[in-house]
Amino acid sequence: SVPLTFFSSIGRGSKLGILIKGGNYLEKLTEIKEVVFDKTGTLTEGKFQVESVESVGIDESKLMEYGKAGEFYSNHPIGKAIMAYGPIEIEERNIEGYNEKPGYGVITRYKGEEILAGNMKLMKEYNIPMENMEEDNTVVYIAVENKYLGKIKVSDKIKSTSKKAIEELKNMGITPYMLTGDNEKSAFKIGKELGMSSSTIHAHLLPEDKVNIFEKIKKENNGGVIFVGDGINDAPVLAMSDVGVAMGKMGSDIAVESADVVLMNDDPYKIVELLKLARKNKRVVW
Ligand code: ADP
Ligand code: MG
Repeated sequence: SVPLTFFSSIGRGSKLGILIKGGNYLEKLTEIKEVVFDKTGTLTEGKFQVESVESVGIDESKLMEYGKAGEFYSNHPIGKAIMAYGPIEIEERNIEGYNEKPGYGVITRYKGEEILAGNMKLMKEYNIPMENMEEDNTVVYIAVENKYLGKIKVSDKIKSTSKKAIEELKNMGITPYMLTGDNEKSAFKIGKELGMSSSTIHAHLLPEDKVNIFEKIKKENNGGVIFVGDGINDAPVLAMSDVGVAMGKMGSDIAVESADVVLMNDDPYKIVELLKLARKNKRVVW
């Protein structure tokens, strides 16, 4: 039988905005040694803003037009930032064949021309001639008809409680990790600000790379591993983790469904409260 304390701990969780989908997770949570965070939308707000626009051989406004045409149908926070920036408007009838490549960017046709908007991996995949640039922000490169025409830099903000959450996890003897599809420089910049060690930060990951890295972390671990994420791409990793935690507000439905625990207000510090609740629950039960 399930001890009554489990119900009261689950109830206490829900008052804290933490939805725990079963008493068995409370037990597993007491053995956790590592917490693996997705970056975008989990440790950061996931609300990007355009920082700068740099065009090559065309007007900046023309580059923005191509960027917006590329991202017209995108649901990705990077695409939404580009759509929200500046006065240029795109007519939907000029767009054909939208194709989203997770971890890379988007491919579409606009007024008959093929537009690529995405990261360096996308440009390499399509053999776009360009210099290999240093990326210190999240950058969207734009190529039209296989010609590189410039870049749009975007940035995201770290959530106000992320640093406190990372610090407190370390105090509890738990190692925090970061997995992201974003570039290394941008990931390390954020990780450093949060006090994470560079060996625990994995960047430039495709959705399938996240699965592989997560598996490796799990194998090397002798307690249990939590994954915390928000995105549709996170569902496979959420399903693999000892306890999968999803952000409830910004999170995609599929992430919320695949998760064992849902953080209703998207606050990463709730992980600390969750682990403390589980430890307290254990003291009461045993
Ligand atoms: P994360 O793992 O940080 O949640 P994603 O897997 O969603 O990130 O995306 C990884 C990278 O792929 C982004 O940092 C960006 O470089 C690129 N990317 C994904 N979607 C888009 C898009 N719609 N437009 C431009 N770039 C994109
Ligand atoms: Mg994400």
